[in-house]
Amino acid sequence: MKKMECDLAVVALGLSGLAVSVAAAELGLSVIGFEKMRVTGGAANMGMGPFAVESRVQKKKQLTLTREEAFMFHMEHTHWNVDAHLVHDIFWKSADTIDWLMDMGVEFEVQPYFPKAQWTAHNVIPEGGGRPGPRGAGTMCKRLTERAEQLGVQMVLEAPVKKILVEDGRAVGILAVDASGEEIECRSKFVAICTGGVGSNVEFREELIGVKPDDVEIFGGVPGLVGDGLKLAWEAGAGKVQPHSEFNVGIHDNFNHWHLEGAFRAKPELTVNLNGERFINEEMTEMTSYYANAVSMQPGKCGFEIIDTARIKRLQKTGPEILDQVHGDDFYDNFFEDAETALAEPEYANWFWKADSIEELADKVGINKENLVATIERWNDYCYHGRDLELCRTRYMNPISTPPFYCMKMILQTTNGGISGGVNVNHKLQCVTNDNKVVPGLYCCGIDACNIYGDTYNFYFPGMNMAFALNSGRLAAEYMAEELNG
Ligand SMILES: Cc1cc2nc3c(=O)[nH]c(=O)nc-3n(C[C@H](O)[C@H](O)[C@H](O)COP(=O)(O)OP(=O)(O)OC[C@H]3O[C@@H](n4cnc5c(N)ncnc54)[C@H](O)[C@@H]3O)c2cc1C
Repeated sequence: MKKMECDLAVVALGLSGLAVSVAAAELGLSVIGFEKMRVTGGAANMGMGPFAVESRVQKKKQLTLTREEAFMFHMEHTHWNVDAHLVHDIFWKSADTIDWLMDMGVEFEVQPYFPKAQWTAHNVIPEGGGRPGPRGAGTMCKRLTERAEQLGVQMVLEAPVKKILVEDGRAVGILAVDASGEEIECRSKFVAICTGGVGSNVEFREELIGVKPDDVEIFGGVPGLVGDGLKLAWEAGAGKVQPHSEFNVGIHDNFNHWHLEGAFRAKPELTVNLNGERFINEEMTEMTSYYANAVSMQPGKCGFEIIDTARIKRLQKTGPEILDQVHGDDFYDNFFEDAETALAEPEYANWFWKADSIEELADKVGINKENLVATIERWNDYCYHGRDLELCRTRYMNPISTPPFYCMKMILQTTNGGISGGVNVNHKLQCVTNDNKVVPGLYCCGIDACNIYGDTYNFYFPGMNMAFALNSGRLAAEYMAEELNG
């Protein structure tokens, strides 16, 4: 067995693991990080960027959201059912973290994602320039990794951590296995667990939140996020907190049908369930975590968006009514060609349909025909009068009247596995037992400890996941240094 020793042993080098490693090393702690995969950065390599409030990038854009406003909004969103002190500290640290990353050479563009969201996402400008987008945050992970190397953080890759060593109730190190299969014992004053949640382990997710694997599609996820951190922390004495789902709504196999997803996802198209009934004010679908809550309650956990040909032709001339930061603005340009391509794919037959009448559409999709016809008649009447008497919609109201009609099945989706939190921590990110006693020496950061959303991800503040990962890592490092130096 290989023996190692340091002040801080970091379990995993994803975003929060890198943040805690760099911050601790800057504060003078010796740090060794153990990462299961061959690369650092975890799921953050796939994303766009972190939330912050009152950053210098926002100030330059004359954005006026204050930390106090953001804090109060978030606490109301969660019904104060989360650790207010921790939310406060994450929000208050967020602007400084943007500076910290900029000093490492990371560049950001601040964006809102969708019209009703706040301009909080600090999306990373990818190395070499260009537009921020999916995978752009890989550059941030690279800069953090370089900074860790510069500070002498030892990074042991392909070395999954198997156990937290606990003596007399205190965490005193970890056991890992290296790429050759040799065991490593690393003794340390502190341990930080940062394994990114349950992610790709859909069976464990079902056990924790009761959602069946087939009910949710994972896209852009990374392997290796299987709940190790939750199990390691609980085994070492940390208490359990009920994790929560973190879903959005999109179309099947979205990466291969990107423009069609742009045309349907979070756009205010008439949306019904299998019973042919509307269930959401479609203006709200842009807030995709609320949309996911509504879809979760429908038969088959799905919705169906219907669009007519006249509307698409109009949007091709005027451009999209609603833009998000991910899909660009050209997704209607070749809608009819994209639609024919998807309709010709045998494996897409149960996801996307075209019909010349509403009755034919209902038959093809399997929606209750009588109800769908009645729903569309009512909807067209609301459009004519400019007033939605059922679900209070006021904007972008267009009748469904010009065939052919197109219908897309909308399903629950998730990026990093759709679940957050689980390990009980206090506002210092120290693991605590179920009766709130600190497990000395043991910290937890990132998604494993992210119990701050209540029951619904706050997508009004885009970038919260990465912000929690970065700022929980930095805060934990500061508390460790404080404990070490008295
Ligand atoms: C496609 C996609 C897009 C996203 N976009 C955004 C975005 O724009 N903004 C945003 O805020 N969030 C976004 N997210 C979410 C965000 O990336 C994650 O929430 C964030 O990376 C979480 O940080 P973390 O440190 O908790 O976990 P990760 O960054 O996922 O790191 C976890 C690490 O733990 C390692 N690991 C697991 N078990 C072990 C073990 N036993 N031993 C050693 N290592 C282990 C894994 O290999 C991984 O490297 C996105 C996620 C995805 C998948």
